[in-house]
Amino acid sequence: MRLQKPPLRGKKTSASFSFFLRCIIFFLPLVSCSRSAGGRAVPPHTFVALGTVCSVNLYEDGTEALYRRITERLQQIEGAFSVNLPSSEISAVNRMAGIAPVPVSAEVLAVLEAALAVAEKSGGAFNPAVGPLVALWGVGTETPAVPDADAIQALLPLVDYRKIQRDGAAVFLTEAGMQLDFGGIAKGYAADEAVRVAVDAGVRRALVDLGGNIYVYGKKADGTAWRVGVKNPENAGADLALQVELASGTVVTSGRYERFFEQDGIRYHHIIDPATGYPAERGVLSATVVGQSSLLADALSTAAFVLGKEKGLALLQNEYPDMDALILTADHTAAGTPRIRQTATLLRNAYGWE
Ligand code: AMP
Ligand code: MG
Repeated sequence: MRLQKPPLRGKKTSASFSFFLRCIIFFLPLVSCSRSAGGRAVPPHTFVALGTVCSVNLYEDGTEALYRRITERLQQIEGAFSVNLPSSEISAVNRMAGIAPVPVSAEVLAVLEAALAVAEKSGGAFNPAVGPLVALWGVGTETPAVPDADAIQALLPLVDYRKIQRDGAAVFLTEAGMQLDFGGIAKGYAADEAVRVAVDAGVRRALVDLGGNIYVYGKKADGTAWRVGVKNPENAGADLALQVELASGTVVTSGRYERFFEQDGIRYHHIIDPATGYPAERGVLSATVVGQSSLLADALSTAAFVLGKEKGLALLQNEYPDMDALILTADHTAAGTPRIRQTATLLRNAYGWE
């Protein structure tokens, strides 16, 4: 995964102020500070990890020590999963592609298993073996460029999740040149873990925002539902397209505005269709998934984006009935799984329900 940018192959970690602003998801129930048990105000923490701007708010149960524990946990996950850190477990597996299996930690194995399950169910639309194509396009790096068609074709056989072998606690990429990339799932896993650390410590409510990968946990003080904003993909820096109400859970969006470059007036974004080797173009501007597992929501939002509206929504309804999805399309419609109409509200008339 591209955790830290440059460390991660994902969003630029340029800490420019405008970027920072663009990273902030608009939460309607804003709370400016938290209060520790002793009564001392501990403000929410914002920091860069996993290649993106992360915000954690533990409200009245937040202490400096707990914020530190969560920050360190996120850094640890980045250290294990980032393809941009040579010391990561994923980099070690990638270096030994075609050579030998590499023992990995239980958590890397568990996330890989989860990624492979989504790969299987999505027909490879979500594909943790997409690394060679991500590297070839270089979206989010200093030098992105449209590759030669031949170069793309040559890599397609390497982008095959079925060629990832597991042998006990070891992972083997069976062909030289294969590369894992967990950029489409690691932030979701990290959000789940941040919440787990908070809950284990007795935190009653928490808001975790890992660059737009949102988890809201527990009951708000005033008893109302959380409301999470989803960006307008056509004006992501300044505008929300909708808000989702939920009691407790995760909201994850994959969008073509997140990382991209333009060449000859055409936009090339960071979500690759592993079947073609090109950025997925099935008329989706963004795909949002709502549920309890941020890991799954992260993988599924990427999968739904690649699959397009019909197949993406069918994947959710048939295989993940506990979760919901909402897809914004280029013709300005919003389409979703049946329950989402009760919880999502379109804002500003930019999009209309299908
Ligand atoms: P997300 O923003 O969660 O949709 O994830 C996009 C990131 O996941 C990209 O920056 C790549 O690192 C990686 N990625 C791109 N295409 C795919 C794909 N089809 N399946 C899995 N991961 C992908
Ligand atoms: Mg994702």
